[in-house]
Amino acid sequence: MTDFLESNITYLPGVGPKRAELLSKELNINTFKDLLFYFPYKYIDRTRFYKIAELDPDLPLVQIKGIIRNYYAEGKGQGKRLVADFTDDTGQIKLVWFKGLKWITSSYPAGNEFIIFGKPGVFNGTINIVHPEIEATEKKAERINSALQAQYSTTEKLKNSFITSKTISKLIGTLLKQINLRLPETLPQYLTSRYSLMHIHDALHKIHFPSNPPELEKARYRLKFEELFYIQLNLLRYKTQRNNQVKGFIFSTVGENFNNFYFKNLPFQLTEAQKRVVKEIRKDLGSGKQMNRLLQGDVGSGKTLVALLGLLIAIDNGYQTCLMAPTEILAGQHYQTISQLLNGIDISVKLLTGSTKKSERNSIEAGLTDGSLNILLGTHALIEDNVIFNRLGLVIIDEQHRFGVAQRARLWQKNINPPHILVMTATPIPRTLAMTLYGDLDVSVIDELPPGRVPIKTMHFTDPERNKVFGFIRDQIREGRQIYIVYPLIKESEKMDYKDLEDGLDTITRAFPPPEYCVSVVHGKMTSANKESSMALFKGGQAHIMIATTVIEVGVDIPNASVMVIESAERFGLSQLHQLRGRVGRGADQSYCILMSSDKLSKEAATRIEVMIRTTDGFEIAETDLQLRGPGDLEGTQQSGIPFDLKIANLGKDGQIIEYVRNIATEILSDDPGLESGQNIILKKELKTLFGKSKIWSNIS
Ligand code: ADP
Ligand code: MG
Repeated sequence: MTDFLESNITYLPGVGPKRAELLSKELNINTFKDLLFYFPYKYIDRTRFYKIAELDPDLPLVQIKGIIRNYYAEGKGQGKRLVADFTDDTGQIKLVWFKGLKWITSSYPAGNEFIIFGKPGVFNGTINIVHPEIEATEKKAERINSALQAQYSTTEKLKNSFITSKTISKLIGTLLKQINLRLPETLPQYLTSRYSLMHIHDALHKIHFPSNPPELEKARYRLKFEELFYIQLNLLRYKTQRNNQVKGFIFSTVGENFNNFYFKNLPFQLTEAQKRVVKEIRKDLGSGKQMNRLLQGDVGSGKTLVALLGLLIAIDNGYQTCLMAPTEILAGQHYQTISQLLNGIDISVKLLTGSTKKSERNSIEAGLTDGSLNILLGTHALIEDNVIFNRLGLVIIDEQHRFGVAQRARLWQKNINPPHILVMTATPIPRTLAMTLYGDLDVSVIDELPPGRVPIKTMHFTDPERNKVFGFIRDQIREGRQIYIVYPLIKESEKMDYKDLEDGLDTITRAFPPPEYCVSVVHGKMTSANKESSMALFKGGQAHIMIATTVIEVGVDIPNASVMVIESAERFGLSQLHQLRGRVGRGADQSYCILMSSDKLSKEAATRIEVMIRTTDGFEIAETDLQLRGPGDLEGTQQSGIPFDLKIANLGKDGQIIEYVRNIATEILSDDPGLESGQNIILKKELKTLFGKSKIWSNIS
């Protein structure tokens, strides 16, 4: 049966080579199994018919019974299309095709009654439906008896080749008919009976062809349970194995450097949250297990200090350390901050990035090999093979969402035994998502900002109100504050984006002319030297305004900058807006975040802006982001090594199931860590099928 499911999709009646190629390219469906696991994204009540008079373009998919009156061609060249007038007793709409024109007119002869199904739109003031599904009235009558008709997502290309949701449904129907034996269970019997799960065979039938809503619900639950359960089981098993097999360096002492720094140099009291996290880290480092910890803390919560304390513990125990940041600017900033904090303490700190000069590089490499270099800061230049440590004991990775699991893994290999790893992220991640994204890590949270911060005020203005905003900026500059103005940079239209920035720069320099005002610019296309000098201008306080693309998104710390203007704010995602806003509000002054947008906003963009105005709580923002966009779009998830193209579960909505199955997986592994017992063999086998090919895990273990 398993072999049968692995059959190539071309063996399915109704799938020729051309369709097979399309299904493979567009939907990644290559085998029977792929097709069977291509689940509907929704179900439609196909017992409901609309009247033409009821149609409006805001309706989702609708079904209408009527007559195709006549066909005619419209437009020329690229815009050439076939149009049909379609009527019922309440009115008339147009049906439109851009492809397959001949086939349509011969398959659905004018003058006959049909049932059409599609999404109403408007063109030139008339309602139309582009590329509708069409069915003869009698055929429909014999087929449909279920109210719930599965809808499958398709692509433009597929639709153009007439592979519609209906086609996919038909193919799945054909496939299910060919499965004559019961499909074998993929979960042990003790789980299906304990948690009342529908048999996989039935679930796979019912998910595609449900007879009623409760049955559909059971099928979905079974499939979601399974999908999420195996992800958790995989993560937890990996974590258990690692804990059992990998020894960690034991940092038993808290020594001179730590104490010197803590009691002499530390410029302020640690917050309670910082203290708690330092304790958690210290405990890991002394445990004999290799630390793999995620440190979450909102922007400005003081992660750098916690990181530094960790580094000092490692150094006190005779180990070298490194801290990796995602951009040169941020790495440079860490270098400055940490060198300053360590002033008067005999620790050697160096910075390594892509633009480090050869001579400096040589001296760094020498210091690494002879062990005299204690802390190496840098960008992903640190990962390169020619960076060889003598005794690397602790690796800290800042802003994890920019790095993938694979990169993490490469740092593991920089010592014979893997160093301790601390991953820091300023992107608050909802709990259940963290369980999946970082499910193999232990998690610490800094949930408290240093005292004395005045909450940032967030305001929204539309482009026509720009003068008001400029007035406000002038007032702020008069009070001695500095201003960021940020432009979105989206890869697909990079050229246009830079144009936005240049136009913006023009407008700004006209409104804030020299010599009274000084404006500096930083963007990704500048050389690092130019970037650096622009940054220095702003940091040093000479520049009043810094115009930037999102390069400043992470980590820049300039306490005197108290206004963040975000241009085209509607084009940013929520977590990005939140990150940008976190650049201000670092000093004691009232800070402001000004969201500029056009006055026409999509509903989603309006929601994002609303949320930004309402709250500064990063976790609340992350939750909303997850609801709005789904986890696949959250930064970093693509490279996370977790299969985020979940087939049925939704990390945003199925949080409860995630927690539930994680507990179940934990329990199973605590009784049987190797999954060796008879009843668990099936789990081991499934894990192998599902994750056996995953490069990332095998890299590490
Ligand atoms: P992030 O978590 O975003 O990396 P940083 O480590 O850059 O935050 O800290 C933000 C600012 O808060 C820095 O200027 C830092 O010196 C300051 N800071 C950190 N911890 C404390 C504290 N306990 N009390 C007061 N200020 C602090
Ligand atoms: Mg930071």
